Amino acid sequence: MEPILNIRNVSKTYQSGEHTLTVLDNITFSVEHGSTMSIVGPSGSGKTTLLGLCAGLDRASSGTVELENIRLDHLNEDQRAQIRNQYVGFIFQNFQLLPTLTALENVMVPMELRGEKNIKARAMDLLGRVGLAERSHHYPVQLSGGEQQRVSLARAFSNRPRILFADEPTGNLDAETSEKVIELIFEINKQAGTTLVLVTHDLELASKTRRIIRLKGGKLISDENTDVFQASAAGSFRKFN
Ligand code: ADP
Repeated sequence: MEPILNIRNVSKTYQSGEHTLTVLDNITFSVEHGSTMSIVGPSGSGKTTLLGLCAGLDRASSGTVELENIRLDHLNEDQRAQIRNQYVGFIFQNFQLLPTLTALENVMVPMELRGEKNIKARAMDLLGRVGLAERSHHYPVQLSGGEQQRVSLARAFSNRPRILFADEPTGNLDAETSEKVIELIFEINKQAGTTLVLVTHDLELASKTRRIIRLKGGKLISDENTDVFQASAAGSFRKFN
């Protein structure tokens, strides 16, 4: 099967005066449809930048980024936004809900922007699936961290994405709440076949995905299947950064 995501020789640099900062250095990997993968590595190693390039939030300085066989690196911001609308879901560590809107309204926002019909009923359905039907009229401030992340998951799934990108999705949640959110994400991967790419520095969470790529100083330094990894780690997990 063709990969859903193809990253070839991707670099990202920032210019500051005379100085060039290389944040990602010649990264190559691809992601199979329906698979699960984590990107790990120390703080500042380029994980968030890489996720943003894969999702079309930002553009590579060189190299090719293909999502569903579409070259994102050739597209401008508006065109990339269209592709994101069509194929991509994204969740963030800090949830990024709009504080002045209720849970239901937050889920409805992207649907409204896409000009869809019947959005209230569909948004209610999505909230029901993440177990929040009864909290639909609550504002983010009235919801716990885990509940807010579930609202953001419902919002991310409003376009039935083929691929979900998650940037430290449990970074602001306690252990028990993290577990519930993660269970939900993996359930969606299984039921809908949604490809999952997540950034985390929690090795226990990373080990639940089928594959782990590791960045260091903007370089991809390892690409492992977790079957092998789990055997060698013998269940002793730790957080690293
Ligand atoms: P990680 O997610 O692994 O912590 P990031 O991708 O957030 O790493 O950042 C990688 C590096 O890129 C950091 O050194 C960061 O300061 C730098 N960086 C990120 N965005 C910009 C930007 N817009 N301009 C300049 N440097 C940036």
